[in-house]
Amino acid sequence: MADQQAPSARPTAADPTASDPTTVAPASAEPATAHRTTTVEKGRFTAAHCTCGWRGPARRARSKARTDGTEHEASP
Ligand SMILES: [Zn+2]
Repeated sequence: MADQQAPSARPTAADPTASDPTTVAPASAEPATAHRTTTVEKGRFTAAHCTCGWRGPARRARSKARTDGTEHEASP
């Protein structure tokens, strides 16, 4: 009676090529001239950020950052 154990093939635990992140493009429903600025605090500094991707310089005074954003909205 031969009790042979067949070499079991190991299943590959991790397949690096399995995960393929697909970049989801945002819907182009936004108007082209959308400049809405917000102030983002970074530690002690505040910087103005715009929806178009523009970023103002970091200011110590929040009012200064708001002014940067307002100026950018006025003349982007
Ligand atoms: Zn902008």
